Amino acid sequence: MWDLPREGTSLTAHTDTTDRAGRGDRRDLTAFIAGLPKAELHVHHVGSASPRIVAELAARHPESKVPADAEALGDYFTFRDFAHFIDVYLSVVDLIKDEEDVRLLTYEVARDMAAQNIRYAELTVTPFSSTRRGIAPQAFMEAIEDARAAAAREFGLSLRWCFDIPGEAGLEAAEETVRLACEHRPEGLVSFGLGGPEIGVPRPQFKPYFDRAIAAGLHSVPHAGETTGPATVWDALTVLRAERIGHGTSSAQDPALLAHLAEHRIPLEVCPTSNVATRAVPDLVHHPLRSMVDAGVLVTINSDDPPMFGTDLCTEYAIAARLLELDAAGVADLARNAVTASFMERDEAKRLNAEIDAHLAAHDG
Ligand SMILES: [Zn+2]
Repeated sequence: MWDLPREGTSLTAHTDTTDRAGRGDRRDLTAFIAGLPKAELHVHHVGSASPRIVAELAARHPESKVPADAEALGDYFTFRDFAHFIDVYLSVVDLIKDEEDVRLLTYEVARDMAAQNIRYAELTVTPFSSTRRGIAPQAFMEAIEDARAAAAREFGLSLRWCFDIPGEAGLEAAEETVRLACEHRPEGLVSFGLGGPEIGVPRPQFKPYFDRAIAAGLHSVPHAGETTGPATVWDALTVLRAERIGHGTSSAQDPALLAHLAEHRIPLEVCPTSNVATRAVPDLVHHPLRSMVDAGVLVTINSDDPPMFGTDLCTEYAIAARLLELDAAGVADLARNAVTASFMERDEAKRLNAEIDAHLAAHDG
């Protein structure tokens, strides 16, 4: 999820970093990244609805104002400004009217992920958005679990869920989200998160809900430090007992915080294009990714709301490779970081690391 950028700013991410690799090397690296088996840890459910998926949902609901043909949707997805982006996002949320919509969205998002050789994803789902629109909790859980089984069977993609509190909806949403997580717990649920705006939504108020989720065995992965300072990341760590931080962009302003994250092996979920699109950073050249890595923090690369920000995970890896001046071996290390930072089981992690090793060996050989 995003925060509001300042008014009048462009949503287009700039990729004009200095490119030190030669053109041939770059093409080679693009192919390497495309084929690289990857894990994604920070990506939102509705935020992953591509124009193709939105068209399918719109076709199921002809009464909605959303166009149902791909060409018209291209224009519809061209955001004039942030207010327009919010309108479009909410109109997509409104297309999720019943459990079949939930199943279709989840299954089609999995298809798009598998096409990028994503093998494992922890998908951030906001069940509150659906249950408050009248979808029965059990039907919602069955829909996502049905899509999860199909994704594993048909696409070779292993999906897990992070249920997140939409911070802007307040404590009522927090109560409902933790209740859904604990009482209707789907098999794929591994973690508990907090998204939405940070400004005006202090993290500590959510402590009781995180305490309950953690007591139920879920991992704590709140968004923090995306559009507010390092104090929010400290709150996430000390009050919400975060095991991983969504974004954590402003951690780079606090050397003691970076040292703490490195020492305690608390990974950051970095989403470069999203950070530019929401103006969390002015442009990619000024992204603090390098200082996070230099401080020894375990950094993972992610896509957040990819079609909405005109990106995908492969593009984010290519951006990280440019910012960090990585070759194929360095990019493979980023992929391994995501395995390390994930909540996947040991056997699955071993298998995925072996696939990454094999891909690198084939490239070098
Ligand atoms: Zn997010």
